Amino acid sequence: MGNISYKSTRGLKGNFTASQAIIQGLAKDGGLFVPDRIPDIKEELHLIKNLSYKEMAYFVMSKFFTDFTEEELKECIDKAYGDKFDTTEIAPLKKVDDTYFLELFHGPTLAFKDMALSILPYLMKTAAKKENIKSEIVILTATSGDTGKAALEGFSEVPGVKIIVFFPEEGVSEIQKMQMRTHKGNNTYVVGINGNFDDAQTGVKEVFADKDLEDKLQKSNYMFSSANSINIGRLVPQIVYYFHAYAELFRKGEITWGDKINVTVPTGNFGNILAAYYAKNMGLPIDKLICASNTNKVLFDFLTSGRYDKNRDFVTTISPSMDILISSNLERLLFELSHGDTSKVNELMEDLKAKGNYKLEGDMHKGLLDFIGGYTDEEKTKNSISQVFKNHKYLMDTHTAVAYSVYTENKFNSRKNIIISTASPYKFTASVMRAIDSKYNESDDFKLLKEMGKLLDSSVPAQIKDIETAPIVHNGVCDKHEIKNMVEKILFN
Ligand SMILES: *Cc1c(COP(=O)(O)O)cnc(C)c1O
Repeated sequence: MGNISYKSTRGLKGNFTASQAIIQGLAKDGGLFVPDRIPDIKEELHLIKNLSYKEMAYFVMSKFFTDFTEEELKECIDKAYGDKFDTTEIAPLKKVDDTYFLELFHGPTLAFKDMALSILPYLMKTAAKKENIKSEIVILTATSGDTGKAALEGFSEVPGVKIIVFFPEEGVSEIQKMQMRTHKGNNTYVVGINGNFDDAQTGVKEVFADKDLEDKLQKSNYMFSSANSINIGRLVPQIVYYFHAYAELFRKGEITWGDKINVTVPTGNFGNILAAYYAKNMGLPIDKLICASNTNKVLFDFLTSGRYDKNRDFVTTISPSMDILISSNLERLLFELSHGDTSKVNELMEDLKAKGNYKLEGDMHKGLLDFIGGYTDEEKTKNSISQVFKNHKYLMDTHTAVAYSVYTENKFNSRKNIIISTASPYKFTASVMRAIDSKYNESDDFKLLKEMGKLLDSSVPAQIKDIETAPIVHNGVCDKHEIKNMVEKILFN
């Protein structure tokens, strides 16, 4: 099939191996790494019918990471998708009413970020060895709540790596905050910022691009990389579960092989749904990609009008991991829609930076037809949680509920639909319990953990059972403009 190489969406000269792209995270010109072509697997599709999750992971990732040997890749996969997950199925598919929930929250931090962040550290370690990297790698991460803990979990105690996480101090759930602030690990740093996720992400991207800092890093034998979905090493592992879900639907007798399905994805940074877009373009029979937003509906507006406009108020919602106005991974979609026209991508990204908006014309605009945008408000999200629980005894978290609401309001065709379930309800306990019954309005996240356990007749997941009383390890907070200072303090003091 030939090797895949990687290049920057903004046209930086040169081709990079997957290893180089994974180690660097972001390209030096500020662009995102993209494969020079999306591997076509149509001829091989029949081979996946009976693959286990790990076998599927190898099938998909070997198509993209062509510089890894079979042995190297299989070792990474084996270590990642083992007993850190609370089910051997890794990503169970549950039928509820007329739809299917693909549960991606059975990893160590109870959110779908584990699907990729369980393997990224192994990929990065292997890549660093292959490329003979002698510097210490500093993982810089901005998080809207879930990436942070999943990255800390993955990179803790990995030799030759330090990890620094920035999160919006007022923009995450209590449980998310405690998961991060109580995280042990000598190579880990966690800092809250006075600002929102976009501020954190912009600040971190600026640090990546800072030339002065780059010199200092080199002198101290450090290099930066990223654990955000801007890293291609995170995106590719996310393609796997779309293949897995398709095969599961077939094995359960719900579809005939080759039938097209729809997927509905609760979206923030556009990473998860972009992985679905890659899966579709590889040849997995997906019809519509339904992009579900909360009140921060910048993507809905974009998909319906072709105009992206971040100039609007940022709203804090009960689905905080989707409170985002600048969806980084759209840049990769623009690259695909323009057939690799990097000067066009540059132009649009310049517009976004200078004016806060851009508009697609002609064929690029038409390319958006693979997607259907939908959004929902807080009331409908809460109603969905309570209705689905009353009628089907299935408890959704607030993010999954955004996707479910959008799905029920937009039944486009008769295709089978998969809702991507991105977090355990235990991670957003208070919002979920209050949606079910207002008698919980006065209790906090931690008090409600036990109540939720009773309701579901299950025990509180071991992953978060004790965090309320765990000692705080990281208490740093900084202004949104001080991200660079903070990084320097951590690295050079
Ligand atoms: C990160 C996250 C999302 C959004 O995913 P993107 O890849 O950023 O679009 C949705 N739900 C949960 C629970 C998340 O943690």
